[in-house]
Amino acid sequence: MLDRYDPALAIAQCLQKAAAVLDRIATDPDYRSGDIQDEFLAHWEFGQATAPWPVLIGSILPNAASANYSLIKIGSDRHAIIASDVAEVAAFTKAFGSPVPSKTSCKCWLFKTELRPAVPEIMPKTIKDLFAWLLQWDCKIFDGIQRILKQESSYLEYTFVTFAVDTPLGWLGFGFDLNQEICRGAKHPRRYTRYLLGEGGLSPIFRLSITDISPSFVHSRNLSFPDLRDKMITVIGCGAIGSYLAQSLVRLGAGLGRGCLTLVDPDTLQPENLGRHVLGYPALFKLKANALREELLRQFPLARIEAITKSVTDNKPSFGVDLLIDATGEESVSELLNGWRLDHKTEMPILHVWIKGNGECVQLLWGDRSGTGCFRCLKSTDEHTYRQDRFQVLNKPPQARMIGCHAFTPYAVSSPMQAAALAIDTVIDWMKGDPSPRFRTRSIENADIRQIENQNISRLQNCPACGQQ
Ligand SMILES: [Zn+2]
Repeated sequence: MLDRYDPALAIAQCLQKAAAVLDRIATDPDYRSGDIQDEFLAHWEFGQATAPWPVLIGSILPNAASANYSLIKIGSDRHAIIASDVAEVAAFTKAFGSPVPSKTSCKCWLFKTELRPAVPEIMPKTIKDLFAWLLQWDCKIFDGIQRILKQESSYLEYTFVTFAVDTPLGWLGFGFDLNQEICRGAKHPRRYTRYLLGEGGLSPIFRLSITDISPSFVHSRNLSFPDLRDKMITVIGCGAIGSYLAQSLVRLGAGLGRGCLTLVDPDTLQPENLGRHVLGYPALFKLKANALREELLRQFPLARIEAITKSVTDNKPSFGVDLLIDATGEESVSELLNGWRLDHKTEMPILHVWIKGNGECVQLLWGDRSGTGCFRCLKSTDEHTYRQDRFQVLNKPPQARMIGCHAFTPYAVSSPMQAAALAIDTVIDWMKGDPSPRFRTRSIENADIRQIENQNISRLQNCPACGQQ
């Protein structure tokens, strides 16, 4: 990074670096091709004489030979999109607020290679150059394209033909216009191929600039661990904590593949919730679970999200999911869920997360069958301190307020965000293989609290919930 306050030095550094790179290019051919190869897509798409044709790409089935173009409107621009699944294109269309897409029968032919693109002496400009370069890169792509051009008559119905290759660097695409006179006379694609290998080979190619908008790219690209695809996750409580948690889970891929994100809350969104909830006025007086589901689907239309608008006390949740998150922040509900988990002897972990006091800190307990303490093991069982916190954190009792006959604990929007972040970090550790430490505390910087060690807590011998088991 250059120092904007010392421009002379910055310019000198640039020149020095440029000179070093040019020297290396001149003396070391491997360096040149390696450097270009790493950024081949940028070289392919930028600074080329005819601007590349932008194409969006969605999910592509593993062995798909082709995908049809659809045209969608984003703002005032029309975009071409290819994807294997028509329903996916329709979902994107809805998310963009675009009219129903016009699906064409025009195909983009697809290839996959494990080889990075070969670095040519000069970037291919004509069909002849293109074929030579493909042979240099991966002869399987070359052979595949020759086979299509010789055998698939459908491409002759259009004015151009395009190809996209899934490379280790991302999608790379190209195509060329078809000579309509020759097309009409060709009758069989083999004859058109003969033309291409002869004088037609001097016609120019065009490049595609392919932008991957598929969920697997969107949800995994920031991660160095598996995303939440295929996981069954239930979030109980769609209040402040649950709403921030749910929107983060969806960003990590929850509800994709064979997975489902289930949101459980019987309450409606009230004016007093708005100041610390993900949802705003449009959701006022709606059932929280439904409104949160709607909002998440508006943002991520491909996720599978379900809403249950009954209380867990009336409607026992399924214990067959991969993870249950208790974001109610209600001790009585947390104890109920903890008791059910122990009774069912389920393999399913429960993550309990809550805000302490007036938001001085947030805490979490991961309950599972690892032999560590349960949610109730956080309460003392000694006669004199019975049901007090086993790990005291607050120095002062929290302030409570009343509105009418309804008591509540004031805390700001940052607290549920912190709680959700703490929970998400623990979910990530679980995805990586170990949710330890299972009892975590994260505090704000100027909070008047005692420090508690993040740890896997021991079970209390006489815990009324897990003690006898
Ligand atoms: Zn216990």
